[in-house]
Amino acid sequence: MKAAELTITNLTIRYGPGAAPAVAHLSLAARPGELLALLGPSGSGKSTTLRAVAGFLAPEPGGDIALDGRSIRDLPPERRETALVFQQPTLFPHMSLADNIGFGLLMRCVGRAERRREAERLLAAVQLAGYADRRPHQISGGQRQRVALARALATRPRLLLLDEPFAALDPELRDEMRALVRSLQRAEQVTTLLVTHDQQEASLLADRIALIIGGRLQQIGPPEAFYERPASLAVARFFGAQNFLPGTLDAGGGVVRTAVGPLPLRQDGLPPGPVTAIIRPEHVRLACPTTDGGLPGLVRERQFIGGMHRYIVEVGPAQLAALQPTALYQPGDAVRVLLPKEHVAVVPDEQDAGIMQAE
Ligand code: ADP
Ligand code: MG
Repeated sequence: MKAAELTITNLTIRYGPGAAPAVAHLSLAARPGELLALLGPSGSGKSTTLRAVAGFLAPEPGGDIALDGRSIRDLPPERRETALVFQQPTLFPHMSLADNIGFGLLMRCVGRAERRREAERLLAAVQLAGYADRRPHQISGGQRQRVALARALATRPRLLLLDEPFAALDPELRDEMRALVRSLQRAEQVTTLLVTHDQQEASLLADRIALIIGGRLQQIGPPEAFYERPASLAVARFFGAQNFLPGTLDAGGGVVRTAVGPLPLRQDGLPPGPVTAIIRPEHVRLACPTTDGGLPGLVRERQFIGGMHRYIVEVGPAQLAALQPTALYQPGDAVRVLLPKEHVAVVPDEQDAGIMQAE
């Protein structure tokens, strides 16, 4: 089957009439065959969105959910051709793994032999070939997770919905399961929404990320965009940015005036006026004081953080964090601080933007 496109339009969900919306005016689309991560902190409305897509929560009037342009908002869950996998999936304990996987097919009147064939194909795909006749209690938690994934794929859903499927696994299993999900998702070409609160996981797995904070979409795009071109301070913070410099974007563009001096930047499409300039610690470079260019700085702190050294450098009235591979400089050393213009991002000014200290 051709992979489906999911379109969510103006989705608002409330738990109870007077309650604040858990999801507010959310619009986004997942392209056919892509893995779109719904990323956000705990309580931001990710699972709510997923449950609405699956059909377990009804959107408020004016909102819609469509597959390939056809609304599914009034269809019951079992007719939406979606499959949902949770953090801790439950399998039927009295059934074999093959019967668990084939259960959805049984509901569709698929014959025994074909159910068995499909179960064995999917067990092999999740690296559990030969496990068809085991019961859920005879396998590990990580293996049960893989069976749940196979079960979800057995009905050939048009949309695979994964809600924090790796959160309960220990780190080694998690890496394995992530790789498995990604390769299986590609092989089956099923459009997938992956809910996660982990920005690294989202960056690692997703074709694109939709960042949701407080029930609202903050930014949608490829993972790199959230590091290089964050849409707001909130987005930058969620992705671990640390050096925030309030400033003013010049009318001509290309330069932001800050307390540490004018910083050249790549043209960014923001109107001139107040902004916050951001440069990630891994892009701040320290050099000998005799080096040309950059800004004069004074090393305040150095900390080994495993593999890298984290410096705090005073530049004018600001303190900037810098990650460097070497321990070349000591606290008290004068340095030049280079802020490469391709890594200086600007976001619109906000109320809480008056932060110049590295955090
Ligand atoms: P996430 O999955 O991003 O952690 P959720 O979608 O579960 O967030 O929750 C979004 C908001 O809706 C939170 O404020 C949460 O407390 C609230 N919420 C979630 N489920 C329910 C529920 N069954 N009843 C009432 N409020 C809920
Ligand atoms: Mg959740």
